[in-house]
Amino acid sequence: MSLRTKLLEAVAARWPALRASRKTRVFSGMAAGLSLVAFGAAGVAPMAPDASDLPVTLVVEELALPDLAAQIDSLRPNARYVAEERVRPGDSLAALLDRLGVRDAEAAGFIRNDAAARALLNLRPGRRVQATVDAEGRLLSVSTLLEGKDDVKRLTIERLAEGFAARELPAAIDTRMEMRSGEIRSSLFAATDAAQVPDAVAMQLVDIFSSEIDFASDLRKGDRFQIVYETQWQDGEAVRTGRVLAAAFQNAGKTYEAIWFGKPGSSEGGYYDLDGSALKKAFLKSPLEFSRVTSGFAMRVHPISGQWKQHKGIDFAAATGTPIRSTADGVVDFAGSQGGYGNVVVVRHGPVYSTAYAHMSRISARRGEKVAQGQVIGFVGTSGWSTGPHLHYEFRVNNDARDPNAIVVPHAPALAGAELHQFRTVAGDMRHRFTLLSPNALQVASR
Ligand SMILES: [Zn+2]
Repeated sequence: MSLRTKLLEAVAARWPALRASRKTRVFSGMAAGLSLVAFGAAGVAPMAPDASDLPVTLVVEELALPDLAAQIDSLRPNARYVAEERVRPGDSLAALLDRLGVRDAEAAGFIRNDAAARALLNLRPGRRVQATVDAEGRLLSVSTLLEGKDDVKRLTIERLAEGFAARELPAAIDTRMEMRSGEIRSSLFAATDAAQVPDAVAMQLVDIFSSEIDFASDLRKGDRFQIVYETQWQDGEAVRTGRVLAAAFQNAGKTYEAIWFGKPGSSEGGYYDLDGSALKKAFLKSPLEFSRVTSGFAMRVHPISGQWKQHKGIDFAAATGTPIRSTADGVVDFAGSQGGYGNVVVVRHGPVYSTAYAHMSRISARRGEKVAQGQVIGFVGTSGWSTGPHLHYEFRVNNDARDPNAIVVPHAPALAGAELHQFRTVAGDMRHRFTLLSPNALQVASR
């Protein structure tokens, strides 16, 4: 029964006189007033004649309303619905397909069992998935990007006449340059978050300046950074964050800059300051690994100058288990327990320099092992003569502990000749980008 019929039934029930004539059409001017009454309006305008005295001639005609449902049904066989969803943490294939509007056990079965299609089961959260379904929820196609180690591919699963097929095609990647700047108010990560800098880029920033800045203890409120990095895009989707091409960091009033320069005809490269001098020094400023996790509490406890002779090291307060890195390339000279040092690792860096890392909870390096700068050799603890978890770090020159901040350690070689010439072109472009990011940023560095 249509709504219109129901209304007429209701009116007829209240107004039996109308029932007989419901198939006739209202034609008189009076009928307008009548229908008002008929629809239950108790208050009739005072000047209107009494409705019960009116000659009732109601003509009702069934109007042919278009049957929309039938029209929609007739369109359905060709209807395609396109949906896009993001993978959620802990998502199952069933849940993902459900959100995409797919009601298709056959398709789900194919995805679970096909070697190529199975990749859809292992997407990381945030990945976008597009699907086309028909009106019954049958899967026509589903597609997503797959990030390989070296490339990005597009996986497409399609319904063909003979069943489903999955194929992977190389995705066209477009590299863009992103520029960001920020100011430190509470922590580095709070600032990089605010500037929408991905963590992978923030960690590169830390790494680039790790010979100059101890990010756990040297940062000051008001420090600023500018950063230029690569991102790779496909179909409007950022698929990968690439290398930092240039960065500047103003720490406690001093500006540090870094420009990536790839050696011509080689995959190697490194970071240089605007003059072409290598940025990375032989030693890291801090042996503690800096991360989003450790950044909150790691801090340096400087030796009190008057006590240097007795102490001969720098204490870094940090939580038990914080990774400890070798501050330079070298060979492990000692790894074991030694009196007040507790669990200690000593790394030799050539004939003159060595470094010691004491009070470890656990050692993860062996004597005689070659270690690279930044390699984890153990974890913070409180073994030996120690009152709480911390790292006691010694920098030794000819086996004599010295204050590393007072020692000038050699840099990697600077660029020269044709390389320097080429570098200056790159540096000039980056300097210009920095100027755009922050008009006053590089005045300290510019000469
Ligand atoms: Zn100490």
